Amino acid sequence: MTSSDLVHFSLEQIEAVDSQVQAFVTVTDELAKSQAAKLDVRRSEGLLAGIPFALKDNMCTQGVETTCASRILKGYIPPYSATAARKLEAAEGILVGKLNMDEFAMGSSTENSALMKTHNPWDYDCVPGGSSGGSAAAVAAGMVPYALGSDTGGSIRQPAAFCGVVGLKPSYGRVSRFGLVAFASSLDQIGPITHTVEDAAIVLQEIAGKDRRDSTSVEREVPDYIAGLTGDIRGLRIGVAKEYFSPAIEEGVRTAVEAAILQMQRLGATIVEVSLPHTAYALSAYYLIAPAEASSNLARYDGVRYGYRAEGVENLLDMYRKTRSIGFGAEVKRRILVGTYALSSGYYDAYYKRAQQVRTLIAMDFDAAFHDVDVIVSPTTPTTAFRFGEKTKDPLTMYMNDICTIPVNLAGLPAISVPCGLSDGLPVGMQLIGRMYDEATLLKTAHAYE
Ligand code: GLN
Repeated sequence: MTSSDLVHFSLEQIEAVDSQVQAFVTVTDELAKSQAAKLDVRRSEGLLAGIPFALKDNMCTQGVETTCASRILKGYIPPYSATAARKLEAAEGILVGKLNMDEFAMGSSTENSALMKTHNPWDYDCVPGGSSGGSAAAVAAGMVPYALGSDTGGSIRQPAAFCGVVGLKPSYGRVSRFGLVAFASSLDQIGPITHTVEDAAIVLQEIAGKDRRDSTSVEREVPDYIAGLTGDIRGLRIGVAKEYFSPAIEEGVRTAVEAAILQMQRLGATIVEVSLPHTAYALSAYYLIAPAEASSNLARYDGVRYGYRAEGVENLLDMYRKTRSIGFGAEVKRRILVGTYALSSGYYDAYYKRAQQVRTLIAMDFDAAFHDVDVIVSPTTPTTAFRFGEKTKDPLTMYMNDICTIPVNLAGLPAISVPCGLSDGLPVGMQLIGRMYDEATLLKTAHAYE
């Protein structure tokens, strides 16, 4: 099969189902076809060569509009590409388009997109999760074999769980964030959404590594993830933390994850009870730290440098005010306000500083648990995919959906969500959390289970 065949198949599938799913905000069909045609006349070797893929629309793509699903970036065409995108292009992957998301990656349902609603391919009345909802839906609906998402508090794993696909958040620093539009810089990380764990290993292999353009990326050897998928997890110690099996976890989700744990035990793993006592404070800490960083990162959208600029303004200040009032959606404004408040003098010590202290305690909980176990297992989300509008009225109920994923970002650890059955006809995700930089053990465990 040629690359042109693959691209043709991908575009045909987009044509057939995306009017309903609405995952793509941009389809780069002409570009993809011409790249594929060029590849067809050469021989290429790599595992990703000639294979179509798509990117969440918060990754910069040279010459291709990058909106973050926000009105404020409408029309913004980056002069450079994100390192992760460049690496996939260097591996001769073929970009077929950009994917919908919650505006600036703030949300858990993709309902905060200013552009459109993405539907869950399993049930069009349900959300695909978020903020990488377009990425998960595009893969689940067979429009692309894989996509990249970004994860600040669960945005790769939660939509992967809701859409029944695999989602991997690498350790903080494993993948370059250069060219990823910043939300909360100390938490953001790019990772793959795929059908299988093996595919996740292949994509991570390609995008991982130190990048001199991102000082937070780490200088560490990238192991051979694919060779590590031996299927053998005998003797592996898997931790179960009671804090992740609270009454907030829906019955059907708990049952599916417990069955998956039994399955891993049958494969030879040892199940060990561990405790992560500060888990209950993670959500509060996250919703101070992430908005604080966002309020600073989003200061750059001033109507001068990128995308949208309000018209009919009286002076510079008026231009800033109108541009930001019209350009940002409600959730983004909420985060900017919370973050600015938490950082303001007089409140900084009470909120931001305390949240940072809690963050350290959470990281220490994980450190202690990883003395006794190699991997920690939990549900990815407390529920399966919910219906449109169900959680939009009360932001707190929406935030609650991230209770299992957020502690992982606060600690900087790698984690993967793998499908582990259905509850009432909708997919359930199991989350495996690993030691810092130990994506290899995560991938091996998930692969053996899968
Ligand atoms: N849902 C979380 C939030 O709204 C996480 C988002 C993310 O990981 N980008 O902040």
